Amino acid sequence: MSNHELFQRAQKLMPGGVNSPVRAFKSVGGEPFFTARADGACLWDVEGTRYIDYVGSWGPMIVGHNHPAVCEAVERAVKDGLSFGTPCPAEVTMAETITRLIPSVEMVRMVNSGTEATMSAIRLARGATGRSKIVKFEGCYHGHGDSFLVKAGSGALTFGVPTSPGVPKANADLTLTLPYNDLDAAKALFAEQGNEIAGLIIEPVAGNMNCIPPVDGYLQGLRELCTRHGALLIFDEVMTGFRVALGGAQAHYGVAPDLTTFGKIIGGGMPVGAYGGRRELMEQIAPAGPIYQAGTLSGNPVAMAAGLAMLELIQAPGFHERLAARTRLLCDGLQSVADGEGVAFSTNRVGGMFGLFFSAEEVRSYAQATAADTALFNRFFHGMLKRGVYLAPSAFEAGFLSSAHTDQHIADTLEAARGALRDARG
Ligand code: PMP
Repeated sequence: MSNHELFQRAQKLMPGGVNSPVRAFKSVGGEPFFTARADGACLWDVEGTRYIDYVGSWGPMIVGHNHPAVCEAVERAVKDGLSFGTPCPAEVTMAETITRLIPSVEMVRMVNSGTEATMSAIRLARGATGRSKIVKFEGCYHGHGDSFLVKAGSGALTFGVPTSPGVPKANADLTLTLPYNDLDAAKALFAEQGNEIAGLIIEPVAGNMNCIPPVDGYLQGLRELCTRHGALLIFDEVMTGFRVALGGAQAHYGVAPDLTTFGKIIGGGMPVGAYGGRRELMEQIAPAGPIYQAGTLSGNPVAMAAGLAMLELIQAPGFHERLAARTRLLCDGLQSVADGEGVAFSTNRVGGMFGLFFSAEEVRSYAQATAADTALFNRFFHGMLKRGVYLAPSAFEAGFLSSAHTDQHIADTLEAARGALRDARG
């Protein structure tokens, strides 16, 4: 069956033919391919076409697809059963691993997605502070919980519905939004409403309006504001956790949040999320405390096995340094290709995540990210796809490298970019 035939069938049966919006290629145009198999740095579609993959299942596949150590761990776990509904030993090992790698996390609760992690974290922030308001940043995405689909990034931004229909006004009114990387705006908001704010949630490196690192001192400034006003600082490290550094963005920038949310890499490719933080906060979660949160499949033994195997691999000495060096090679290479072609272009990168902008400026804000030339990006995307390179199908998503990306993959990508830029420029 061809990609086109599958998409025709899918569109009749699933909204937009997909189970998650950005996959549908709606903003870049055209039709998505259907992956038959993945290995290392590459995907193969049902027609046998190979793509060098810079999406990595949207972040989890940091050691490449189909890594034998992860697959073997899953196979071993499967032999003992798929789900128990009782505690299992791997959950304890997982909690020990996370709390060891992320010192601000003294206790942790496993869930099944990043969305669940962030929804639970703000319930905890509200329950623990007795306050109702939440602060988030324009262009940041924290999953599809009602409180977060207000000026949201990722697919919500890609499809022009940053504030989604269906989110009750009463809910949206409790979500205050701020411009990313603007500390004065945050100071002004806290001066006005600081005593009503339960928590401030931020992607410490924004990855859902393309990739935008925090400016110097920004995260420290937010830390101080939250402490001064008794609000909890929540780092959403669903994307950055275990990726920008072994200890996540909080280790990279040296700022400890009160609560952290995780997803993607900790599941090794299985559906997993987690939230954790200071002991006295986490002890307020049921059944230790009164704030309720639960999950039939949470701490699933197969998912824990996959996540643990991946966390083991990324603790190899120098893993993140090598990943960052590879990412730099890619970004610098793309910059020099674009410069050579006379195309206005800039890149951002932190560790193993990066952003490409058709913009002459270094991008540090939502306004700059949304002002970049998205039409040119869409043409570039298709030029790359035609040449066997799969970038995220939206100008508002970060890209990801894995340890399976070799110098040859990068050289092939740069060669493809030269041709794609020539085509895209017209
Ligand atoms: N937070 C961030 C920072 C994310 O990037 C995402 C997903 N891309 C989520 C939360 C939601 O995670 P999930 O899709 O697993 O629900």
